[in-house]
Amino acid sequence: MADARSSDAIGHNVRAVLDNIRQAALRTGCNPESVRLIAATKAVSPDLVRLAIEAGARTLGENRLQEALPKIEAVGDCQGIAWHFIGRLQRRKVKSVVGRFQLIHSVDSLELAEEINRRAAEAGLVQAVLMEVNIGEEATKGGLAPAAVAGTVATMKTFPNLSVQGLMAVPPLFTDPEAARPYFRRLRELASSLPYEDMKELSMGMSQDYAVAVEEGATMVRVGTAIFGARRG
Ligand SMILES: *Cc1c(COP(=O)(O)O)cnc(C)c1O
Repeated sequence: MADARSSDAIGHNVRAVLDNIRQAALRTGCNPESVRLIAATKAVSPDLVRLAIEAGARTLGENRLQEALPKIEAVGDCQGIAWHFIGRLQRRKVKSVVGRFQLIHSVDSLELAEEINRRAAEAGLVQAVLMEVNIGEEATKGGLAPAAVAGTVATMKTFPNLSVQGLMAVPPLFTDPEAARPYFRRLRELASSLPYEDMKELSMGMSQDYAVAVEEGATMVRVGTAIFGARRG
């Protein structure tokens, strides 16, 4: 990875990540166009986000509403550019998130889903979401326990202003990306055990392990550090 503090580096990094995604998809015989890069832009300035867009990033993932709103304003909510919400979402922030983000990756409870449905109904829209699964069953992590996913999704599917499009997970972090493979596989198997045709999205894989995630069927990878370098946040 090139030094992301120079503007050339960001373009270079985006192209390298897109190429790695494509190579990983081809290894599995999948259509490389079916995997979407979500550039994780937390703690990244609007200028650097623009460089990533110039180099081919089309979907941007933000973690915090306070940071995201001015950034969306500055970068522009242009045709062809989508913003996703990937961070933990508090109930009192739902009102401001609904309708502003194309997809919310991090719905981790039925209560949160209910609130999104309620606010989406008020706004007269249908909000697309993913259910976040605590696939490693780690005490410190958010997300629904795998055993609770089927029941919770079944209820969420009855909410008229919610479109549940798939699952998201952040597996335990390992130095060896191969160690994450069983968790990605488990998420894919969990998704395919659900009786819905319209839950095709699997948001899994970060800088460390996105190639492995794509090999295991990710349709979206959320990559920050490999594009923008290490940063706080
Ligand atoms: C920051 C973040 C990412 C990107 O992580 P990197 O290791 O920097 O690629 C992905 N997903 C979520 C939920 C994040 O908060």
